[in-house]
Amino acid sequence: MAITDFERYPLTFGPSPVHRLDRITAHLGGAEIWAKREDVNSGLAFGGNKTRKLEYIVPDVLAAGADTLVSIGGYQSNHTRQVAAVAAKLGLKCRLVQEKWVDWDDPVNDQVGNILLSRIMGAEARLDPAGFDIGIRSSWEDALREVSDSGGTPYGIPAGASEHPLGGLGFANWAHEVAAQEQELGVFFDTIVVCTVTGSTHAGMIAGFADLLDAGGAQRRVIGIDASATLDKTRDQVARIARHTASLIGLQREVRDAEIEVLAGWAGDLYGIPVESTIEAILLSGRLEGMIIDPVYEGKSMAGLISLVTSGEIHRDSTVLYAHLGGQPALNAYSGIFGF
Ligand SMILES: *Cc1c(COP(=O)(O)O)cnc(C)c1O
Repeated sequence: MAITDFERYPLTFGPSPVHRLDRITAHLGGAEIWAKREDVNSGLAFGGNKTRKLEYIVPDVLAAGADTLVSIGGYQSNHTRQVAAVAAKLGLKCRLVQEKWVDWDDPVNDQVGNILLSRIMGAEARLDPAGFDIGIRSSWEDALREVSDSGGTPYGIPAGASEHPLGGLGFANWAHEVAAQEQELGVFFDTIVVCTVTGSTHAGMIAGFADLLDAGGAQRRVIGIDASATLDKTRDQVARIARHTASLIGLQREVRDAEIEVLAGWAGDLYGIPVESTIEAILLSGRLEGMIIDPVYEGKSMAGLISLVTSGEIHRDSTVLYAHLGGQPALNAYSGIFGF
């Protein structure tokens, strides 16, 4: 099998836009920085990286004859919001477990942003006091059981769609999309920077770019910036999903350890809690580019990009592609961080 052999249910507008970040590039004074925008990839509830993953999962949902999508995330999960949108689009019901992944005392954290959007789209979003964990949870299994006990046919989509066997395909295909866009634009991105938490976004990219490398492409770095603050778990999950996805898409070798690069340093101590570098990155992107990024994920990966370019770890003559994975609705639950 190759990536092109997998069925893809269209939920996005097509290839996501790629453009230069000229003012950030000038500000950093080295490395040419571009962005690829998953935050504007779809008309479904603002889209994002999970929408791309779901394109490869929906055919299995339809084949299973399910009537209810069941998923899980934090109160401000972007993933559950995108699952709710897909359920609405397909005419399915949606049951969401929203756990207290972040101990954030904003009084409207469990009411605005993503969870508000999910409820508008008709999902039943129930709060659960459990804390952050990227693995499989009992509350999720309970939700699946409740749906079947009440006569429904549930289809479970784990946190971030990462533990789903097809969860890595969306971003394996993203790698191929990047290669096609490079041809059109006459550019080569030697470094990709992506935020990683539940892992299948970064893992899919690793598998997809390994595939391109074996097809004669040039070497590049795919740098995952950890935003989970549980580095070992995330790195293991990225490695496992990258290897699984690589075998699905027919890579003829093992993914090498050197191809799996998850860097720590910008997550702070806790998932979902921004640190100073996160806030600086959000303000810099907004003020130099009018590009909005969030305090949970993209602010942390942008902070990583800024440090790596500034320190020379990403070389001055590199051409860098920043994967903007979405997530802006969560900003509404974080108004206090800026002190405006
Ligand atoms: C989920 C998410 C991520 C992390 O992607 P994973 O596949 O879970 O590693 C990054 N940014 C945003 C905006 C997300 O919603």
